[in-house]
Amino acid sequence: MRVLVTGGAGYIGSIVAAELLGAGYEVTVLDNLSRGHRAAVPEGAAFVETDLADRQALDRLFREQAIGAVLHFAAFIEVGESMNDPAVFFRNNSANTLQLLEAMLAHGVDRFVFSSTAALYGNPRRVPIVEDDPLTPTNPYGESKLIAERMLFWLHDRLGFRYASLRYFNAAGATATRGENHQPESHLIPRILQVAQGRAQDIKIFGDDYPTPDGTCVRDYVHVLDLASAHVLALQALEERGRLIYNLGNGCGFSVREVIDAARRVTGHPIPASVHQRRPGDPATLVASSEKIRGELGWQPRHPGLDAIIGSAWEWMRRALA
Ligand code: UDP
Repeated sequence: MRVLVTGGAGYIGSIVAAELLGAGYEVTVLDNLSRGHRAAVPEGAAFVETDLADRQALDRLFREQAIGAVLHFAAFIEVGESMNDPAVFFRNNSANTLQLLEAMLAHGVDRFVFSSTAALYGNPRRVPIVEDDPLTPTNPYGESKLIAERMLFWLHDRLGFRYASLRYFNAAGATATRGENHQPESHLIPRILQVAQGRAQDIKIFGDDYPTPDGTCVRDYVHVLDLASAHVLALQALEERGRLIYNLGNGCGFSVREVIDAARRVTGHPIPASVHQRRPGDPATLVASSEKIRGELGWQPRHPGLDAIIGSAWEWMRRALA
């Protein structure tokens, strides 16, 4: 089966595209290269450079290629940016998802794997978070993804559209050939590693007055290859089932300070840190229960340790971004 991977020139999309090829799927990558890298698109994937806002280009693609399913990664992802420019997130993440879904409906493609997020949960009432917990995003990024999830719910309910929504907690780590390379970089682990690499002076800790054990935000870091295996399982499960919603995390929370300490261990660099104001929109703690996907699809993270996750990112960064 040929699958369409939107955002397949980006960090998670390119790694999942490579895994899909390895699992025997034919892959077409669609990306507008606004944030992605052409070089990250795996060899063996067809590449279409277009924007999801271009409906004619989507119609052409679905007419010309026998696409059996779509995995939709293309999106803006930075919480801080979403707080400053909410409209662009609703345009890019919500409206463009609708555009893609309408094109799929028009061409009879009804299998969809959606990159959703822990940001849907906002400040959770309890951790670990389960999929039925309240969805109350604290930033436009999370809201833009929630709107897409609500659209998917109704397409399934009214039209039998099949979808899996995978709510990633904090994607991290790298493969031998692909890793995280956003411009500018906002994510914690790559920013810490930039300090170890001598490309930044120190790591800024955004707030140490949160209601957490050491006052810094707690997150659940999950290896990008474990996210990739979940996508393959979800795609297979859509053969039988119509609506799947799963958290993807390791069930372990690490504070910003603990992540910095782990990076010091892995790199041997002192990594100076300084405390700054909170970053608007950040929930204090996000830790996943992933019992549902473990129980229903047999998902088993293979790289759950924080040091191993950071180690893989560090190895890749030293090779690729020297
Ligand atoms: N963070 C930080 N300094 C940085 C980047 C991030 O203190 O330079 C914090 C951020 O405020 C959040 C956590 O690290 O509490 C994870 O942020 P990231 O942007 O990596 O992922 P998010 O949780 O926003 O998806």
